[in-house]
Amino acid sequence: MIRIENLQVFYGDKRARFHAVRDVSFTVNRGETYGLVGESGSGKSSVLNSVAGRHTDWTGQILLDGAAVDPVARSAEDRRKLQIVFQDPFGAIHPKHTIGASIAEPLKIHCLPNRNETVERLLRQVGLPPHFRFRYPHQISGGQRQRVSIARALALDCPVLLLDEPTSALDVSVQAEVLNLLQDLRRDRGLTYLLVTHDIGVVGHMCDRVGVMKDGRIVEELTRAQLLAGQVKHPFTQELIAESGVAG
Ligand code: ADP
Ligand code: MG
Repeated sequence: MIRIENLQVFYGDKRARFHAVRDVSFTVNRGETYGLVGESGSGKSSVLNSVAGRHTDWTGQILLDGAAVDPVARSAEDRRKLQIVFQDPFGAIHPKHTIGASIAEPLKIHCLPNRNETVERLLRQVGLPPHFRFRYPHQISGGQRQRVSIARALALDCPVLLLDEPTSALDVSVQAEVLNLLQDLRRDRGLTYLLVTHDIGVVGHMCDRVGVMKDGRIVEELTRAQLLAGQVKHPFTQELIAESGVAG
């Protein structure tokens, strides 16, 4: 569903050019959850934002469902293939708009009818009562806000969700609930996930395969079974696992 070949991501202009992602390649199969894990600054979001079309200064190849995307000119068809969910739900939901208005926005942009019914159906699908559409973001909890941004991301029925630290801003007790919701949605809707996290525990819970990133490169790729069994080669991965206690 997603194929990335020799991705290089840059920031800044000629004099202060920063090479943030170096020669990253991986594929995400249809229906799979692929994780990118690594410390802060390792280049995970840069990969995600390049795939999403939010960052355009990159070289290499990004293919979505077999079709190469242009770094700068994203076709409308490509944009319908994926949605992104951020760590901070305020990235996607406007603090001064009702929940309903935020979820309906992508539907409105695409001139889809029956928006109130669709919003209520989406709220139910993320485990929230339909009347929440009349509330404002400050009137619901952090976990509920993240459910709302997931509902918004589902609104256009895109086959791919890009998840950037989707639970990192939440209380530990709420994190598992949101991760379980994402698992259920993926299964029920046949979605493909590319999930970025610094938390290797999240990867062990969610991902079929994972690329471990360090200093802009993928230093090791693992299946979940290898990760949980502690069958890792790179010292950096061993360190991540030792810190988290995810294996064994
Ligand atoms: P991660 O998501 O793994 O924390 P990022 O992809 O956000 O890492 O960042 C990778 C590197 O690129 C970091 O060194 C970061 O400082 C740099 N970087 C990210 N965004 C920008 C930007 N807008 N301008 C300049 N440098 C950036
Ligand atoms: Mg990041």
